[in-house]
Amino acid sequence: MREPTLGNPQNTIAVLQKYNFTFQKKFGQNFLIDTHVLDKIIRAAEIGPEDCVLEIGPGIGTMTQYLACAAGRVVAVEIDRALIPILEDTLDGYDNVRIINEDVLKLDIRELAEKENGGRPLKVVANLPYYITTPIIMGLFENHVPVKSITVMVQKEVADRMQVGPGTKDYGALSLAVQYYSKPYIVANVPPNCFMPRPKVGSAVIRLDRYEKPPVEVADEKLMFRIIRASFNQRRKTLVNGLKNSPELVFSKEEIESAVEQLGKGMSVRGESLTLEEFAFLSNKLCS
Ligand code: SAM
Repeated sequence: MREPTLGNPQNTIAVLQKYNFTFQKKFGQNFLIDTHVLDKIIRAAEIGPEDCVLEIGPGIGTMTQYLACAAGRVVAVEIDRALIPILEDTLDGYDNVRIINEDVLKLDIRELAEKENGGRPLKVVANLPYYITTPIIMGLFENHVPVKSITVMVQKEVADRMQVGPGTKDYGALSLAVQYYSKPYIVANVPPNCFMPRPKVGSAVIRLDRYEKPPVEVADEKLMFRIIRASFNQRRKTLVNGLKNSPELVFSKEEIESAVEQLGKGMSVRGESLTLEEFAFLSNKLCS
């Protein structure tokens, strides 16, 4: 297989000029132009010949070349039709890559995993389009797509939100969802000059290792996430009021007050101070 040729500014510019490519802001296009960062992502994702990798948003195929050299198989999903002829060119000779021209949010990834990897867990590796980071990651988790790990470049602030606990301003529904489904670990911080064009914000690579079994036992997962959303939607309200006001929940005032009381943190406690274990406890109480 060919050695990767992209991943530096000169060759990236050459490809862009050859195809007269114009960046589409609406697709969050910031292409990686730093080989050290690419090596770091591939190492952190721990990909081997036995792995089938799903890459979301291959761009001009920079990371795809690296992934193809390390993995058994790569499936790359790209929304921008203008990039498809470029990918066919830059990935020529990489026989283990399949390119799909589709919006990843419209794709049935469970079905894809079934077809491409016999239902065995995929590894997701991507420099994500930042405007849809959360729906992509939540979609993979909530739809119970078979994934072993997700190693992705995201906005630095979003990476921080994924791994913090209660008592910080970044703590919220995303932190709890990520930590219910996976063990997060920030691999590296990446400055704007590693991309073309440069994003306005700093980025970070985060790896999420999917738990086989979540760290807390929850009778009704969907209910727990409705409670979590209700608690954070009204951050300035007490937990009791947040739950009472939520259109997503149908419990009586007495049921809510009794469940919150059993938490043992007082009736004026706010949702943002609760741990995942405490949200699980509350949800199990309300469920029963
Ligand atoms: N992987 C390339 C790299 O690192 O140089 C490009 C990363 S760029 C941040 C994000 C890529 O995702 C772009 O190629 C963009 O066109 C693509 N993209 C944006 N929205 C998408 C969607 N809904 N489905 C699939 N791909 C998408």
